Amino acid sequence: NVRVRFCPSPTGNPHVGLVRTALFNWAFARHHGGTFVFRIEDTDAARDSEDSYNQLLDSLRWLGFDWDEGPEVGGPHEPYRQSQRMDLYKDVAEKLLAAGKAYHCYCTTEELDARRDAARAAGKPSGYDGHCRELSAEQVEAYTTEGRPAIVRFRMPDEPITFTDLVRGELTFTPDNVPDYGIVRANGAPLYTLVNPVDDALMEITHVLRGEDLLSSTPRQIALYKALIELGVAKEIPSFGHLPYVMGEGNKKLSKRDPQASLNIYRERGFLPEGLLNYLSLLGWSFSADQDVFSIEDMVAKFDIADVNANPARFDLKKAESINADHIRMLDEQAFAAACEPWLRAPHANWAPEDFDRAAWEAIAPHAQTRVTVLSDITANVDFLFLDSPVEDEASWAKAMKEGSDALLRTAREKLESADWTSPESLKNAVLAAGEEHGLKLGKAQAPVRVAVTGRTVGLPLFESLEILGKEKTLARIDVALA
Ligand code: GLU
Repeated sequence: NVRVRFCPSPTGNPHVGLVRTALFNWAFARHHGGTFVFRIEDTDAARDSEDSYNQLLDSLRWLGFDWDEGPEVGGPHEPYRQSQRMDLYKDVAEKLLAAGKAYHCYCTTEELDARRDAARAAGKPSGYDGHCRELSAEQVEAYTTEGRPAIVRFRMPDEPITFTDLVRGELTFTPDNVPDYGIVRANGAPLYTLVNPVDDALMEITHVLRGEDLLSSTPRQIALYKALIELGVAKEIPSFGHLPYVMGEGNKKLSKRDPQASLNIYRERGFLPEGLLNYLSLLGWSFSADQDVFSIEDMVAKFDIADVNANPARFDLKKAESINADHIRMLDEQAFAAACEPWLRAPHANWAPEDFDRAAWEAIAPHAQTRVTVLSDITANVDFLFLDSPVEDEASWAKAMKEGSDALLRTAREKLESADWTSPESLKNAVLAAGEEHGLKLGKAQAPVRVAVTGRTVGLPLFESLEILGKEKTLARIDVALA
């Protein structure tokens, strides 16, 4: 039975790297009919925040992830917030100490630094040197009388650690590279190095899929796991798979601080969750050689961790947008209209929520569906329907209103006046005929009409737009432009 976990720390805003990790774990669980555990790693009181915790939950829900165990849904390993599991970690740390698998380390930071510098200067491994590994009872006594604080350090085995990474294949770490490491602070607070694998053990996690940045902690965790198995705390070492780095601008690792990395941006711009997830799934994985756009269900059906590529993936905003646009086209008409509504009802610089006109919106929506890349694009495309008068965009005005435009507009108004307003074709013919009288092709003739009525030089199909806006308003706007 597959059990995977997504275990973010609630710091800052959720970012795309985190979402990719959640997605691959979730898809892996769903593909195998396994269990997706959501756990909150909030043991760093200085950095964690409740606001960030709430954002995480809200984001996962928005993206459409469901979790089988975790906050709000509960489960057999409750609680799922590490800040509420402190007694468990304390208990395990005591067991490790009692069994000699961990020890108290009294070295001060200054001592550690001095010895590390000396080791470096001598060209020797510069990690922890095992100073407190085998202290005699007298030394311990002396340190305690001195009042030295002690951290708890895990005793690493003296032989290399080898494991088969699900993405990278077999990897070996030599003891020099993985020295004994701290698991509990001097003040008794357990560290990530302890709580993360202890929870994976207690929650019976079978597969750990996480970012490459955590690869160096894996040999330590495997050693700790072995100790936990001997102590009867863990059953089996999970399999590990490290997902490739995501590179941003200038081929640098996409950092949390990078604006492109923030999930909220995509949400605010009106990405569809399925469009964003489709794109993020391609960061290190591919659906097939010739298909980039697919549904989440199809991704789940096909997802295999063995197909994840170890090479860094490049974040490409243009591609994300184009995939999102494809997902917008794939919505059925009602779903598209409904998805845009919150944008159209939001208080807007130019209109109030009550100016929203559902009938007009539903009539124009199918024409807009083929034009927008993200849902927030919708307002500029249809604002002419809801505004009392069109936006005043000087650049558009200057571009479309040339010498002779007034004369053209006057003729167009006349012909539109007597056109059949139930037929966009008839409205088109009216403008076409007006253009002919002034020696202008349709494209040139319709430009001033569009600007007079919508305020912009580009937009939705014009004659459908005019029909939906209606005769009265259209003619009134042309009159205003002529005045
Ligand atoms: N809480 C860790 C992080 O946010 C997750 C570590 C892991 O996946 O093992 O980086």
